[in-house]
Amino acid sequence: IAKNPGEKEFHQAVHEVIESLAPYILENPVLAKMKVLERIAEPERVVMFRVPWLNDKGEIEINRGYRVQMNSAIGPYKGGLRFHASVNLSILKFLAFEQVFKNSLTTLPMGGGKGGSDFNPKGKSDNEVMKFCQSFMTELQRHVGQDTDVPAGDIGVGGREIGFLFGQYKRLRNEFTGTLTGKGLGWGGSPLRPEATGYGVCYFAQEMLATKGESFKGKTVAISGSGNVAQYAAQKATLLGGKVVTLSDSSGYIYDPEGIDAEKLEYVLELKNIFRGRIKEYAERYPAATYYEGQRPWSVKCDIALPCATQNEVSGEEAKMLVANGCICVAEGANMPSTPEAIKAYQDHKILYAPGKAANAGGVATSGLEMTQNSERLLWTAEEVDNKLHSIMRNIHEACVKYGTEPDGYINYVKGANIAGFMKVANAMLAQGCV
Ligand code: NDP
Repeated sequence: IAKNPGEKEFHQAVHEVIESLAPYILENPVLAKMKVLERIAEPERVVMFRVPWLNDKGEIEINRGYRVQMNSAIGPYKGGLRFHASVNLSILKFLAFEQVFKNSLTTLPMGGGKGGSDFNPKGKSDNEVMKFCQSFMTELQRHVGQDTDVPAGDIGVGGREIGFLFGQYKRLRNEFTGTLTGKGLGWGGSPLRPEATGYGVCYFAQEMLATKGESFKGKTVAISGSGNVAQYAAQKATLLGGKVVTLSDSSGYIYDPEGIDAEKLEYVLELKNIFRGRIKEYAERYPAATYYEGQRPWSVKCDIALPCATQNEVSGEEAKMLVANGCICVAEGANMPSTPEAIKAYQDHKILYAPGKAANAGGVATSGLEMTQNSERLLWTAEEVDNKLHSIMRNIHEACVKYGTEPDGYINYVKGANIAGFMKVANAMLAQGCV
């Protein structure tokens, strides 16, 4: 804490991991002696830079860019870029730290990193977004590369932004390589990458539910967010037989008791991805739905909750409300959406709860598959990618069960994911010496 003052999100993420790992480290004194935990919590490198760009009025705007290269023990740094007004070093360090464990869990050879900027894409024209992306990449290109560090999307960085970033990278470096993932299908992207995180969350939740003899069939599902992860989590949950009744954005949430079916979801995709509208417009289009301004969807009665918006979006009180309303399963699409108090409430009531580093790993796993296709210069079919994604999510679930099952049979997915993710990275660090 003294070393990283004011970095509250980073402290929160490290604290959660240390809590699960402490008993494991006590049993393996070499890890303590070699200071693996201390090293893992220190980024290998942090790059911060100025991003000047011209807005549509011809005025200069200045943002701050970052890349946190957290750990490369098991592969090149890999992790998304976030463009959001709230971005700061603490948030990116927490995300990069989580990414190390998540990438290890996928079983693919990827280290952990994260980056982004305090640039706010809301209300910006396509031209402004392009100018910003070009300026951002003009500096970032010095620090990334297909064998060094491979960024992808995150909040505020979708297909449009990856296109602008990739175009500028290619222009400056004069190479067509897989340095970014999340590319378009016709220019190096992987089938199913847009769907992967949301689908993966549902595949993981399916495995969790199966441990109780349950499934999505006939279940009511509350989802937060309405961006990339939320959209495809809603699609897969519906395909698996669930009824999705909520979506949200940072202004409020909509509740549709009739369910957000395939046709309504098509409208949401168009609204958010093409017109860049607000979720409240859903309630104007579908009168069965109600819009709740400035609120989050956790007071709605549901069986399954999939938080897919942002960090710390479920408080302890909200988690207690979910449990009291009969929720049996929480699988995180977002990174660290549940506060420590919320996690305590789920675990005290022994409901199924999986942290983002396990449940949302399908996105980065499919990015890993995109890197493999780029290296092979081949394009796999959607079916092939889906099968691989599905089996990776099953394997992560198995690893969580192996390392997280408590003596009373309760599966502590937090502990399972932290130990399983840590072991591979720690062993690699031990083998590589004092680096
Ligand atoms: P998008 O930008 O596509 O969507 C983000 C959604 O969350 C939007 O609906 C946004 O609303 C909402 N949101 C963002 N910030 C806040 C906030 N402070 N309060 C309330 N709502 C907010 O991002 P993604 O869907 O890609 O990412 C969502 C989460 O999933 C993030 O935590 C991300 O780290 C995580 N994740 C994403 C992966 C991916 O492959 N994309 C992979 C693994 C994890 P608004 O439009 O109003 O900002």
